[in-house]
Amino acid sequence: MDSCIFCKIIKKEIPATIIYEDDKFIAFNDINPIDNIHFLIVPKLHIINLITAEVEKIDFNIFGEMLKLAAVLAKEQGLEGFRTMINSGKKGGQEVFHIHFHVYGGSNHLKKI
Ligand code: 5GP
Ligand code: ZN
Repeated sequence: MDSCIFCKIIKKEIPATIIYEDDKFIAFNDINPIDNIHFLIVPKLHIINLITAEVEKIDFNIFGEMLKLAAVLAKEQGLEGFRTMINSGKKGGQEVFHIHFHVYGGSNHLKKI
């Protein structure tokens, strides 16, 4: 999608610190980290979020693959524990409307949720 910032990162039209890439996914450091380590796992397919109708048309197995990737990359980044988060919709805190997993950790000031 032309105006989408994550599609632009996927197409290398804007820079990012990419930590992983294959034919289906890209992972890069969040520009505004909320923890010592904070990266995003993004499917190359432009899916908006979990509340739009299009999500029903996609293969939900990709989310399993993304979680597995989260585990592998978190270990590679040296995290002994981490959190994952998906924001869906403006009222769910989503700012970039191309679905992504946040993966973050590394600090000792963990707030219980
Ligand atoms: P959301 O609120 O949509 O779940 O999260 C969007 C995330 O993308 C935010 O944590 C924000 O810091 C990050 N972000 C927004 N624009 C860019 C960018 O151009 N590059 C990178 N690396 N991260 C971005
Ligand atoms: Zn996109």
